[in-house]
Amino acid sequence: LIAPDGTSVPTIFAEMTALAASTGALNLGQGFPDEDGPEVVLEAARRAIADGVNQYAPGRGFPDLLTAIAEHQQRFYGIELDPSRQVLVTVGATEALSSTLLALIDGPDDEVVVFEPYYDSYAACVALAGARLVPVPLRWPDFQPDLEVLASAVSDRTRVILVNDPHNPTGSVFSREVLDEVIRLAHRHDAIIVTDEVYEHLVFDGPHVPIATLPGAAERTLSISSAGKTFSLTGWKTGWVTGPAELVTAVLAVKQFLTYVGGSPFQPAIAAGLRLPETFFASVAGEMKAKADLLGTGLRAAGFNVSTPGGSYFTVVDAAPLGATDADTFCRELPARAGVVGIPLTAFASPDHRADYATLVRFAACKRVEVLTDAVGRLSALS
Ligand code: GLN
Repeated sequence: LIAPDGTSVPTIFAEMTALAASTGALNLGQGFPDEDGPEVVLEAARRAIADGVNQYAPGRGFPDLLTAIAEHQQRFYGIELDPSRQVLVTVGATEALSSTLLALIDGPDDEVVVFEPYYDSYAACVALAGARLVPVPLRWPDFQPDLEVLASAVSDRTRVILVNDPHNPTGSVFSREVLDEVIRLAHRHDAIIVTDEVYEHLVFDGPHVPIATLPGAAERTLSISSAGKTFSLTGWKTGWVTGPAELVTAVLAVKQFLTYVGGSPFQPAIAAGLRLPETFFASVAGEMKAKADLLGTGLRAAGFNVSTPGGSYFTVVDAAPLGATDADTFCRELPARAGVVGIPLTAFASPDHRADYATLVRFAACKRVEVLTDAVGRLSALS
């Protein structure tokens, strides 16, 4: 996963974006929008640079952003956080995840339960931290875990149950029963819940329910999010961790030696973004749902079986009806056959489980309507 000989470089996302660039194909692979986020937020960053916000930020983040993050959690979810002790700004959700896992994991006897398929950095960070990954499968087409399988994966060796809701790559939103079971198991086995909610504002039939708001969760949950998806600013790499003060401090202890801090001028700009009116956040979800609907309808018309997402940037299809037997090969040939790039779901599974996702492909809906329309038109030529 993190082989120093370079065999794990580049990631599937970088590889597929490069393939799109070299072939001129439409990139429905890597999840980044092709339009930048709100002008007020862009302008706030320009102003911050002009106003001299160009030296190191404080280790936890500028107090104003810490406050804006806490206020946002209060406004949307009723979560009460002490901004000076329970919030930490990170270099994207990626650093929030890596420093959290490095902070919580003690050694090779620790296990981290993840839902598979999983975002690529999860397995890599668990490996970096020297722990064991215990995958719980999510199955086509609804991608909810089986509660008995989940219960049997968690034991006293479990240090972390890693939740991702809404889920990348499948687009599923976990049911209340699943979240309740995660909390019950975390209590029973004294595990910490780490929840990656970067798609919190991309839930199509909301509201989003953070696991930290459910009974018994807050005291043992670290919640992670990022400005990237909410504000269509993935290149700003500004994220955060929130939760119990002592756990957040443990994450800071690691984070300060990974990057110390991220880019200063983005912080006041993200604070301004988090304070945008409710209408902005509603439009983020509404527009992405419309795009996911357009993409899903077009993919169905093109002959794929389609799993309807509950949220996120992504839609997963089964390419078997189009003759695919191996999603990896299918995706590598797709630029030449149809001028479109997607990501094989096998890239999100551990090597011995790849066969379970053999014909599934992830397409990103976070592109302009014209691009999505063009893409599904091209794909319809496959059948
Ligand atoms: N989260 C993005 C995706 O799933 C990729 C980010 C990255 O390239 N690391 O497509």
